[in-house]
Amino acid sequence: MTTGASAHQVDRFDLIVLGAGPAGASAALTAAQSGLRVALVDKARFPRDKLCGGGLTGRAITLYSRIYGEPLPPVPLERRDSFAFHAFGQDLGESKDAPPLHLCMRFELDAALVRAALDRGAVDFTGCAGKLDPDGPAVDMSDRRLEAPFLIAADGVNSATARTLFGSSYDKDRIGFALEVERPGADPDRPLRIDFGAADWGYGWQFPKASGTTIGVGGVLARNNDMKAALQRYMDVLDIPDTLTVKGQFLPFGDFRSTPGKGRILLAGDAAGLVDPITGEGIAHALDSGALAAKAVQQALTVGTPEAALSLYKQSLRPIHRGLRHARLLRNLMFRPSLRPAFVRSFRNSRTLRSEYLRLMAGETEYGALMQKMISRLPGFAWRAMSGK
Ligand SMILES: Cc1cc2nc3c(=O)[nH]c(=O)nc-3n(C[C@H](O)[C@H](O)[C@H](O)COP(=O)(O)OP(=O)(O)OC[C@H]3O[C@@H](n4cnc5c(N)ncnc54)[C@H](O)[C@@H]3O)c2cc1C
Repeated sequence: MTTGASAHQVDRFDLIVLGAGPAGASAALTAAQSGLRVALVDKARFPRDKLCGGGLTGRAITLYSRIYGEPLPPVPLERRDSFAFHAFGQDLGESKDAPPLHLCMRFELDAALVRAALDRGAVDFTGCAGKLDPDGPAVDMSDRRLEAPFLIAADGVNSATARTLFGSSYDKDRIGFALEVERPGADPDRPLRIDFGAADWGYGWQFPKASGTTIGVGGVLARNNDMKAALQRYMDVLDIPDTLTVKGQFLPFGDFRSTPGKGRILLAGDAAGLVDPITGEGIAHALDSGALAAKAVQQALTVGTPEAALSLYKQSLRPIHRGLRHARLLRNLMFRPSLRPAFVRSFRNSRTLRSEYLRLMAGETEYGALMQKMISRLPGFAWRAMSGK
C-alpha cells in the first residue's frame, strides 16, 4: 500500500530486506513465498561483482535446493571433485572423486538469486541508495520512505546496520581479511588447491575455472600485518606473475554475533558474521540465515508478537553457531605453532581425515564429528592444548 506524505511518499511493507546478496535474496524469496509484502533494497544494481572464490560446497547446493526448490542455480557452474592439500609448505596429498565443489561467478549467481526473489513477488529497490532509520525500522531514499514492522539487514561484512546498532560492523581484533587475483586463461584440468597456513591463521586457494583461475589468501587480520606479502609468497609458490590486479575485502572468519540483531532488526549472512573460520565459506550460511530470518519474521507475525522474531531467529541459528564454535576450536589446533606438526602429520597420513574434511565441506558431516576423528589420531598433549584442559 502506498500513501502520500508531505515531503516524500511512504511505502509500507511487512518486511524490508536491506542488501540483496545471497543472504538478502534468500530472505526476500522466503518471505515473499510465504505471502509477505517485501521490499528488497540494495545500493547496487544487479548484476554486480562481489569479491569471492565462487566456490559452492555441497552444503550450499543442498541449502539452495531446499530454499529454491530446484537442484542447482540457473547459472554456469563447473563441477570439481579433485583437490590438492598443502599445509605450511608441505604437500598433504590429493583427493580424487571427492564430494564435488561447484564453481560459479558471483555476478551471475547473485543476479539469478535476486531475479528469483523478484519473480516470487519481492518489490525491487535494487540500485537505490537509502539510509536506515533504526527506530522505524525504515529506509529513507531520495524520493520515498520505506516502512515495515521488521527489517532484515543482509548488507555484508561492512554492515552499516550493525554499525548503527552496535557501534561497529565487526570486531577489528577478530575480523579476517582476504586478497584475490584473477589469472586469465582456462586451466580446468588442474585440481583445486588449498594451502593451510598460506596466511597466518588462514589459508590460500587456487580455483582453476574455464574462464581463468582465482587465487587468493585470507586469514585473521590481526595475525597478518602484511597480507600483501603473504599473497606474494603464495603466488611465488604457484609460479604466478605479480602483474595481476589485487583486490581485497574483509571476511568475518568465524567472529559471529551471538545475538544477531536488535529489536525488530535481524542481521543475516556476513552482517551477522556467519563465515567459516577455517574454510572461509560464507555463501551457504548466507542462504540459510536469510531464509531462517524470514521464517522467524513470518512466525512472529503469525502469532502477533513482533518482539519474538529475534529470539526465534537466534534459536534457529543454533546449529550454525555451534558449527562455527567447533571450527574455532579446531583452528586452534591447526594454527598454533606448537601443535602444527601433529596436525600436518595426522592430515598427511590419514586418507580418512582428508576425506572427512571434504565431507565437511560437502555438508555431509559437522565439525564436531571431524574433531572426534582428529582427536583419536592426536597425541594427548595436542588435545589438551586445543581444548584448554
Ligand atoms: C576473497 C573472498 C573469497 C571468498 N570465497 C568464497 C567461496 O569460494 N565460497 C563461499 O561460500 N564463500 C566465499 N567467501 C565469502 C562470501 O563471499 C560471503 O560470505 C557471502 O558473499 C555473504 O553473502 P551476504 O549476502 O551476507 O553478503 P554480500 O554478498 O556481501 O552482499 C551484501 C549486499 O549488501 C549490499 N549493501 C551493502 N551496504 C548496503 C547499504 N547501505 N544499502 C543497501 N545495500 C547495501 C551490497 O551491495 C551487497 O549486494 C569469500 C569472501 C571473500 C572476501
